[in-house]
Amino acid sequence: MSAKKKSAPPAAKTLFRRDENGYTNLKKGEERKLEAYCREYIDFLSAAKTEREAHDLAVAEAEAKGFQNLDALRAEGKPLEPGTKVYRSCRGKTLFLAVIGKHALADGLHIVGGHTDSPRLDAKPNPLYEDGEIALLDTHYYGGIKKYQWVALPLALHGVVAKPGGETVTVSIGEDPADPVFVITDLLPHLGKDQAEKKLSEGISGEGLNVLLGSRPASDADKDVKEKVKYQILALLNARYGITEEDFASAELEIVPAGPARELGLDRSMILGYGHDDRICAYAGLRGLLDLDEVPDYTGIVLLCDKEEIGSVGATGMDSVFFENSVAELLALADTAQPELVLRRCLERSRMLSADVNVLHDPNYPDVSSPNNAAKLNRGVVIAKYTGARGKSGSSDASAEFMAEIRRVFDAAGVAWQMGELGKVDQGGGGTIAMFLARYGMDVVDCGVGLFSMHAPWEVAGKLDTYMMYKAYRAFFADAR
Ligand code: MN
Ligand code: MN
Repeated sequence: MSAKKKSAPPAAKTLFRRDENGYTNLKKGEERKLEAYCREYIDFLSAAKTEREAHDLAVAEAEAKGFQNLDALRAEGKPLEPGTKVYRSCRGKTLFLAVIGKHALADGLHIVGGHTDSPRLDAKPNPLYEDGEIALLDTHYYGGIKKYQWVALPLALHGVVAKPGGETVTVSIGEDPADPVFVITDLLPHLGKDQAEKKLSEGISGEGLNVLLGSRPASDADKDVKEKVKYQILALLNARYGITEEDFASAELEIVPAGPARELGLDRSMILGYGHDDRICAYAGLRGLLDLDEVPDYTGIVLLCDKEEIGSVGATGMDSVFFENSVAELLALADTAQPELVLRRCLERSRMLSADVNVLHDPNYPDVSSPNNAAKLNRGVVIAKYTGARGKSGSSDASAEFMAEIRRVFDAAGVAWQMGELGKVDQGGGGTIAMFLARYGMDVVDCGVGLFSMHAPWEVAGKLDTYMMYKAYRAFFADAR
């Protein structure tokens, strides 16, 4: 046997997966950009407490950057050209935005889709009642909440009341520092023995989520008015908004935590806010598209979707054909021959980042994480190859090839990223809008910001991860493939 010359083993850093805190690699001068972006996001999150408010703020930001309503463009007969910026609204809740790229639409789109609805309490159709000379608002919770988290904290009322005459009144009470707030009362611990022995999921019931609205009886009500406290509340609503009790039948009133998003931690490294899920990704997608300096190679699309938290159902959820219709409208404006076939080709050749939040490993609850596959705070955006539950059921499972493409795009742009899975096997799971786009045959992968306390009234996100999300989506839109 001849002696073989032994070569030096490769350096560990080339063999091991990177696993570093994102702050260690932050480029010089980037900290300033990070802080500036997070300030703008905190303002957006504080102002966008509902899907309608997020929609309207997004339209305003887009119009300020030169986006035009697609329907108006069609009416003017203006053609689509590379660089044209358009948006299309679905009933004031879901929004489609596009920047036309250099390539033909048939070559596919680069899509970032997030959602702007968040878990909350909705007023029932007949919400207002008086009990024990107290006025209360009856609610039905929306999305996956832990009910015990919604008692004994300041609440605000947001929404719309549509009148049969065609007028829609916008309601917002509890955000202005001069406004009153609302609350759901909890039992005092002194008398909470029976409650404390219940399961956590049963300590506060769904029917028990009644919001305290008032207690002062009207002094000027007719003698025959029995419910004088309820009367007073109706009179105040009538004075402020011109509405009556009957108008609740055509209203959408959402109860959300009152107050703005804030910096969190002595080092101000995190953000505490209501509705990070999923406005943190929705806003990053929006800004990623709005802030593109150059006309992208591929047409970039942002979807800000409603109804994700209850299964993406309904006309404004991603299960509807609004997205497909909007792409068909783009093709019509581009005067495409064989539009039906080209629509199919365009969708099949598209790439999508399903922009939704993920879970962070929480040292307070280590038992639910898969030790080597749990995302960590400050390690960048979380890519989830698959979601689902019980044997990946319900997952769209991104291909290895597409994962490689995303690694290439993020690495080239200096995006801190990590792989993550939502909890350990058989602990639970969750889904996103990924499957509604994957059915067109396009490449889709879930990619979002990791959170603590997801679905709680106040959720936690790291600033570094928040900023990296924006960088990631922006790089995806700018990618030439
Ligand atoms: Mn979500
Ligand atoms: Mn959610």
